[in-house]
Amino acid sequence: MQTTSKHNYSKHSVLFWCLGDKSDHHEYFNHAILLTIALLNLISGVFNYFYQHAEMYVVLSKFIISTLMVFAWYISRWHEKYRSGSLALVILTMSAVIPINWFGNGGSSGPTYFMILAILFYFSFAFRETKWLRAIVHAVVILYAITLIWIEHTQPHLVYHYPTEVARSVDLTIGFIFASFYFVWMLSVYAERFKAERNKAHSFSARLKDMAERDPLTGLQNRLVLEKEIRSHIQSEEPFSLALIDIDRFKAINDNFGHNYGDHVLCAFSELLKDTAKSYAGLGIRQGGEEFILFISGTIDPTFNATVELLNRLASANLEHGPISFSAGVVEWDDREDQITLLKRADDLMYAAKEQGRNRVLKE
Ligand code: GH3
Ligand code: MG
Ligand code: MG
Repeated sequence: MQTTSKHNYSKHSVLFWCLGDKSDHHEYFNHAILLTIALLNLISGVFNYFYQHAEMYVVLSKFIISTLMVFAWYISRWHEKYRSGSLALVILTMSAVIPINWFGNGGSSGPTYFMILAILFYFSFAFRETKWLRAIVHAVVILYAITLIWIEHTQPHLVYHYPTEVARSVDLTIGFIFASFYFVWMLSVYAERFKAERNKAHSFSARLKDMAERDPLTGLQNRLVLEKEIRSHIQSEEPFSLALIDIDRFKAINDNFGHNYGDHVLCAFSELLKDTAKSYAGLGIRQGGEEFILFISGTIDPTFNATVELLNRLASANLEHGPISFSAGVVEWDDREDQITLLKRADDLMYAAKEQGRNRVLKE
């Protein structure tokens, strides 16, 4: 495969090699952070070594952190130990990256505050599903920062102070730029993740709704939809009419040619019904068994015409064991009646059609 469908970058690209699939948002983001911290520590280690901005232990620890971050990235990206990678990131950041930067880079007047904010942000997303755990982790990070400030004020000699104001400003500016990119990027990656989750939930509930409202054999809508349509038309006092259609001598079709063929006939009829309903901007519904409804907004005449048209089309349909017919009763809603009375009128008319010899459509 050359490209992933959604994100349009090649599976052979450097970005994919480094970070993995972008649709695994959390993994993708963690790999990015691990590599960024590794790179930053490496650059900062080299910078501090040559310009002697920090003490030797700071320089050394930056190289060690850089190596450990690359290792954490490696096991996460290439050995699917994503959780261990994430844990290593958190432990290394809290136990080494933040304290070393704090004491090695000017304490509360240096750029380490940005890192503390970044880790707070990171935890907000990592623990977003467990509210109490998130609250505890946030509290721990804030207490941790307060502890660092307290140590700085009680033991000021532990903190390395910038030799010049310019060095401090440069470090702060670089820290600010990286932190800004981090926040903006993290927000965009997670916004995409939330959008994907919302779309998934949305399409799942739409599928469920569709399943609940559709007849599995014929694909027509079922009586739930009919009831909903009738209710909403009655509520808004909008006229409508319907044909109650019952296939003639369907039991004989089953008995003579088998139940499967019966199913095939129901499906063939449903296709014709769907088509007719569509051309009259109505609805084709399977009421149950071999009984159907053609529902159309408006007065009775178009519904009657549509039903006669359907009967004619069925007569000329090319069914394997010969043509079939139906009997139907067409009624228009009388604005004082409820759904039960309306359907009873349609049913009576349909039975009258059966009695008159079947293969016909009756209206009031
Ligand atoms: P009438 O002209 O009086 O309507 O006669 P009929 O044979 O169509 O009516 P009846 O109510 O006696 O038989 C309906 C048959 O429809 C009986 C039932 O087995 C069959 N049936 C109901 N649902 C299905 C289905 O999903 N598939 C198949 N193959 N048959 C079904
Ligand atoms: Mg019947
Ligand atoms: Mg029947």
